[in-house]
Amino acid sequence: MPEVLKAPLVVEFPFTRSLGPVQSAFLTGLRERVVLGVTTTDGRTLVPPVEYDPVTADDLRDLVEVAPTGTVTTWAWNHAPRRGQPLSTPFAWALVRLDGADTALLHALDAPGPDAVHTGMRVRIRWAEQRTGAITDIACFEPYDGDPAELTGSDGEFADPVAGIVAAARLDYTYSPGRAQTAYINSLADRRTVGERCPSCRKVYVPPRGACPTCGVPTAEQVEVGPRGTVTTFCIVNIKAKNLDIEVPYVYAHIALDGADLALHARIGGIPYDQVRMGLRVEPVWTDGARYPDHYRPTGEPDAGYDAYKELL
Ligand SMILES: [Zn+2]
Repeated sequence: MPEVLKAPLVVEFPFTRSLGPVQSAFLTGLRERVVLGVTTTDGRTLVPPVEYDPVTADDLRDLVEVAPTGTVTTWAWNHAPRRGQPLSTPFAWALVRLDGADTALLHALDAPGPDAVHTGMRVRIRWAEQRTGAITDIACFEPYDGDPAELTGSDGEFADPVAGIVAAARLDYTYSPGRAQTAYINSLADRRTVGERCPSCRKVYVPPRGACPTCGVPTAEQVEVGPRGTVTTFCIVNIKAKNLDIEVPYVYAHIALDGADLALHARIGGIPYDQVRMGLRVEPVWTDGARYPDHYRPTGEPDAGYDAYKELL
């Protein structure tokens, strides 16, 4: 059994959100080195502020300034900071109750090591030099040995308030396709397409998933299929995808390879897009060094009859 494949996979996109009045004031305040909380109907001050009281669900709009100094209420040491975290050297994630607030704010605390951090220690905000109206305008917290800092006297009204933010979402995976698809990918390197047959219903799955979704049993028997196949259904693509160097319109089709009981999908080439049809017989076209066919093209055989592929639609 060859080693199961794995590779890094990054899913990344910019997430744009509008802020609403409370978050807008909070982030605009950070830009101006002012920390704002919101007051609840029972007189507590929530920092970071929220738009609705978490207990009563009342609308909350009364903004109030709190100090940039506070007390650590709990913390955890981060031995190995990851990409995009506030500090590149090891630091503490800390909940800090700012002076004047009743709740705590999560942020990074810059300290030489875990021995230098304790619950109850006093800290203050270290402001970022470039501030844009984001939580990262607080670069981090740092140890501070003193009384609550003075307030700026802000009423929470600012010129040019921040109305929205773009938060970069990024997920780093190590993706493993598993035993079955590893075997499938490895055979593609030899330009062979290998599926797996269910021992119960006898269906051949291409690409294989390692188990039959209908019978719920493992599929271990390997079966080579193709290389030719039949177009079972298709669509004409008229929208050019970003980073995809294919002229539109082109045809994307479901193709049942000979011997397979599941259609895979691929691009159809070598034929005008408006002449592609159900039942068209096709074969793979490989480019040098590729790990899967670039596209499929007509073989010139007569079309397959509908009965030959009607169960594969
Ligand atoms: Zn089955």
